[in-house]
This record gives sequence, C-alpha cells and structure tokens, in this order.
Amino acid sequence: MSSFDDDLSQRLEAIRAQNLYRELRRVDSAQGRVIKIHGDSFLNFSSNDYLGLANDPRLKEAAVEAIATFGVGSGASRLICGSLAPHHECEEALATWKGTEAALVFSTGYATAVGTISALLEKDDIIILDKLVHASIVDAARLSGAKLRIFAHNDLNDLEKILRWAVEGKNTIVNRRVLIVTESVFSMDGDFAPLAELVELKDRFGAWLMVDEAHATGLYGPKRSGLAEEKNVRGRIEVQMGTLGKALGSSGGYICGSRKLIDFLINKARSFIFSTAPNPAAAAAASAAIRLVNSPAGTEKCHHLFERISQLNSVLKTQRSELPQAIIPVIVGDETTAVNAAARLREKNIFVPAIRFPTVARGEARLRITLTAAHTQEDVATLCDALREFQLNDPTP
Ligand SMILES: *Cc1c(COP(=O)(O)O)cnc(C)c1O
Repeated sequence: MSSFDDDLSQRLEAIRAQNLYRELRRVDSAQGRVIKIHGDSFLNFSSNDYLGLANDPRLKEAAVEAIATFGVGSGASRLICGSLAPHHECEEALATWKGTEAALVFSTGYATAVGTISALLEKDDIIILDKLVHASIVDAARLSGAKLRIFAHNDLNDLEKILRWAVEGKNTIVNRRVLIVTESVFSMDGDFAPLAELVELKDRFGAWLMVDEAHATGLYGPKRSGLAEEKNVRGRIEVQMGTLGKALGSSGGYICGSRKLIDFLINKARSFIFSTAPNPAAAAAASAAIRLVNSPAGTEKCHHLFERISQLNSVLKTQRSELPQAIIPVIVGDETTAVNAAARLREKNIFVPAIRFPTVARGEARLRITLTAAHTQEDVATLCDALREFQLNDPTP
C-alpha cells in the first residue's frame, strides 16, 4: 500500500505545484441566482442553467409525477427492461422539436459523445475536430481508434486543407468515413461555430458533420432548439448532439437524427447499451423543459436572459458576436492570477469559477462568467461593479 500512497502523494503534489489542484465545494442549496456554500450566500455566475430551469416548479412537478408512477430507478438498461415511457416521451419531444426523424437519450452528455462517435467510426476512418471541442469528444475520438486530426478553432481554411488530405491522394481507402465534429457554441469561450459554412464545406468533400449543441439548446432559433435551427441547416447535419443538463435544467444527453442513425446507435453505442437507463424523473423533467421552452413563458425567459447579456456587454463593451452570448470569458492567462481573482470575487460573495488547464490550454486561464434568466438587473450591476474594481474589464472572446 505504501508505494500506492507514495505515488498518489507525488502526483497530487505535482498538480498543486502548478496551481492546478481542484477540490469540491459543497453547495447546500438548489441551483439559482444565489447559491449557499459553507453557510455563505453567493451570487452565482457559474452555472449552465441558462434559463433558470434547474429548480423550476414545473420541471420539479414533472419529475415528482414520474417518480410517483415509475419510481426512482430504471431497474435495467434500456435494452433489457428499463426503456420506460418517460424516456420514449422525451425522445419524441426532442425529435419533434429538432425536426428530425428520431432521437435517443443517454444518461449524460459525456456518454452520448463517447458512445456515438465510437460506434460510428472504425480504425481506418478519419475524425476531424475543432481545436476547442469538449473533452468528451476528444475522449470519444481516441476511443474510436480513427485517425484524429485537429483544425484551428473555427478556421475553415485549415479544415479544408485537412479535408483535402483526407479525401485525396494516398489517403484514399475505399469507403473511408470522414467525420467532422464541432460545437455550435463553445463551452469555455462562448463563441459560435460558422455552421452554414461548415455544412457547405463538408458537403463539398462528402464528409459527415456532428454538432454538439450543449450550450445552444434552448437558446437559439425560432423554437430555441439550437444554432442549427437559427442557421437553417438542421436538415444538413448528420448527427445533432446536445445535453439535457444545461438550459433544459435536467440531466442527460441526446442525439437527434435519422431513424437509421438512432437504430444504429441502439445497436452499437456501448455507453447506451451497457448502462442503466437514465432515471425516469430526469427524462420527465427534460420533457417538461422542452414544453416550457416552446411556450410563451420560455420565450420570456430567453428574452430576459438576452437583456441581462446586453446589459453586461454594454458595461464591459464586449458586444462582439452576432448573437447574444451567455458565456462570457474574461481571459486572465496565468493560472495563479485566475485563481486569485476568483477568490477576490468570492470575498464579495460573487461566485465566478476560475477555469484552468486541462479544461482550457495552459496559460489561457480565465474567469468564466455565465448569465442566466434567473439573474436580475441588480445582480448583473453588482457583478459589473466588482469586475471594474478588479480591472477585469477586458473579456476576450
Ligand atoms: C457539458 C458538455 C458535455 C457533457 O455533458 P454532460 O451531460 O454534462 O455529461 C458535452 N459537450 C459539451 C460541449 C458540454 O459542454
């Protein structure tokens, strides 16, 4: 045992030495504009609960009702006897909302990415990722065994070069699959992928496109189903992914696409097959969230969020994107400086997380501010005052 302990001690020490050590903070309240940590209340600018639905009474009621009827546990994987009515209802709601033939729900977004990509690709295939995609997609690409290529963030020229390499010349193996994966809204930078141009490009080269809408679902497009809807390219994206745990306030992940894609994943996605079905309450809450987002109340929440975003932008002079950005990074650079800045904000009872390597690149540590529909005008004003005081008023996209 002592060599095991020694090894762990050394490795933990190495993490601390780089100021990359992380620890859990126990939160003693529900998600919301204010959270309670160690008895203190903090204005919360750190959650992905963009529409303030995680503690919404309508979602909670749907979850409680599902528990009353279906219990707390699903009992088995979906393919054994755990495929409960709330899962099917949630999938039908997702497919209708997204305008696809079918949908499939996974326990988490992480499991969605890993299961889907590793099912779709094999060793001789090629996967091309935007440099800033989420860790779940990077892990999925590695697990698939496909040849991995990275293009510079949102750089269509770089992507085109890689596509040319992938489909031309010596690399051409018959029927080699080429899959491009990107996010529609990037999780740590909040910026947008050029979806219309990406669709043009992948079509030109006969590649497939998978778009992770984790941070866009619920916010963009006439029905708020995501950036693909906003850009009118939903029908041209082979694989639409998203999560149920961000703007939809519940938990889980999903794939929307053709009936064939979903049938294939049910048969081949190992994180779907070999895992207990999501709890019915989560699926029912997600369905309630989709109903809410599609109602006038949902539209109002979204407008409220967008107002808070423009308030922050006008104070910080950061209006740089075509659409409202709920994720506003304040790039600090140095890991220690970022951690210290977050600590100073906490002294003012404002909770903004310092994001460091490996979540972002080394030397690109940042404060990641997220706004939600739950925030009031005064909340955002308080944040702006604090940021001004710390001279952290130059957020970079
Ligand atoms: C959060 C996130 C995931 C993972 O989803 P979980 O449901 O939290 O596991 C995947 N992709 C992106 C871009 C995310 O931000």
